[in-house]
Amino acid sequence: MKEKIHPEYMDAIAICACGETFKTRSTRPELRTEVCSKCHPFFTGQQKIVDTEGRVERFIRRYGLERRYKRQARKSEEGQRE
Ligand SMILES: [Zn+2]
Repeated sequence: MKEKIHPEYMDAIAICACGETFKTRSTRPELRTEVCSKCHPFFTGQQKIVDTEGRVERFIRRYGLERRYKRQARKSEEGQRE
């Protein structure tokens, strides 16, 4: 009987190209996604992306993804400002 046949799922954080993050389950602690409910064309037609950085940041920090998130957030929200 093979015990490793099932990937181990864990709580994961998905990071969207728009900077939004959300909780999910995955075999990896971090996922990248192109769209989410905040930036999917279906939704963006009705509502703009709201800045959830404060909420998200706490979440990111908890998962130790802060540096990566900051880099991405800066890129999408402020350009390359240091
Ligand atoms: Zn998104």
